Amino acid sequence: MDDIGANLAAVRSRIAAAAEATGRNAVTLVAVSKTNPVERVHAALSAGQRVFGENRVQEALGKFPDLRREFPDLVLHLIGPLQTNKVREAVAHFDVIETVDRPRLAEALAREMEKTGRRLSCFIEVNTGEEPQKAGILPDAADAFIADCRDRLGLPIVGLMCIPPGGEEPSLHFALLREIARRNGLDGLSMGMSADYDIAIRFGATHVRVGTAIFGARRPVPAVAAEG
Ligand SMILES: *Cc1c(COP(=O)(O)O)cnc(C)c1O
Repeated sequence: MDDIGANLAAVRSRIAAAAEATGRNAVTLVAVSKTNPVERVHAALSAGQRVFGENRVQEALGKFPDLRREFPDLVLHLIGPLQTNKVREAVAHFDVIETVDRPRLAEALAREMEKTGRRLSCFIEVNTGEEPQKAGILPDAADAFIADCRDRLGLPIVGLMCIPPGGEEPSLHFALLREIARRNGLDGLSMGMSADYDIAIRFGATHVRVGTAIFGARRPVPAVAAEG
């Protein structure tokens, strides 16, 4: 598992180089550990990584509670679609929600945060490529949705997140996300994955979500029989 430490070091130095080229240095590396077993997450923690991203609530619940006991300063981001019936578990077990993408979810999150007193930083996901199968608020609707989340619901919105369409030039999407954030006075930009995180940093990313460059190629998700 030494590869994880070496990969992390390589990713961190590429992040540092890109951040230095832009004159900014506050870039958070979110290590995307989805599909990786707990031992591999542990290896990343041992190598000093503390911020992780998971895309499924159930999978994260199976891996992170034990790791948190050993590493209380661990920070867990939800980076996948969130169903309203999982909001309670998500608010209880994550620290940051990156995928606020529709009014019903925003309302459910606001209610649960009010009820529990746990205020999680939130990013609003924007569907910059306007892909019908993809989650995220459409760019034209983003300003009104951001205002609604902040002003009516009082959600702690810290920034925007996007997943550019595969096969397209990502920088157009990074620039669009940066512009929507700028005109709404938001500082956080979660954009860039293994293939393009240094480009994203040049376009102002404050958070990059990197999986395969750290953990290697993902194994296929195991069949249902392996559950439990
Ligand atoms: C899986 C995933 C990533 C990481 O992708 P890599 O190409 O493995 O770095 C980033 N963001 C989201 C939303 C993901 O689902």
